Amino acid sequence: MKTAVFPGSFDPFTKGHEELVKRAIPLFDKIIIAIGSNSQKKYLFSLEQRMEWINEVFKKDDSVIVEAYEGLTAHYCQKVGAEYLLRGLRNASDFDYEKTISQLNSIVGGGLETIFLISEPQYSHFSSTIVREIIKGGGDATPFLPEGMKI
Ligand code: ADP
Repeated sequence: MKTAVFPGSFDPFTKGHEELVKRAIPLFDKIIIAIGSNSQKKYLFSLEQRMEWINEVFKKDDSVIVEAYEGLTAHYCQKVGAEYLLRGLRNASDFDYEKTISQLNSIVGGGLETIFLISEPQYSHFSSTIVREIIKGGGDATPFLPEGMKI
């Protein structure tokens, strides 16, 4: 069974995240969208709210599940028996950052492989940070969110 963990903060989940998971569905038997909790980080949306949104987006996709975890992503993958990490690449700065993290995860996770999907051009400027800024500024973030997701 090929299991991939897609780790992130998803604060909030965007159309960019959705598109990435949809493209990964045919590649894996199971995808765990894993919301990492970092006590140093302050989130705009509660963990419960973020999980609810993602569950709604993938309610018809049986191979996609949502979980929360604390601690190292590599340890979480070992715990759930996942051999792959899924990450998205939007641009060169994502690449620089992700390259280091994936090399570290391979060591800490005993050969854990990171699979990267390059974002579709129409979503490469989408980020949770931008969505949070729009919301904080009182704007409408709907175009950046999965269909039907209301903030
Ligand atoms: P983190 O806090 O770990 O950066 P994010 O929730 O911001 O978590 O992102 C999780 C993953 O989703 C990362 O691999 C990121 O590159 C990817 N991602 C975010 N936005 C997009 C997008 N628009 N297109 C493709 N991948 C994306």
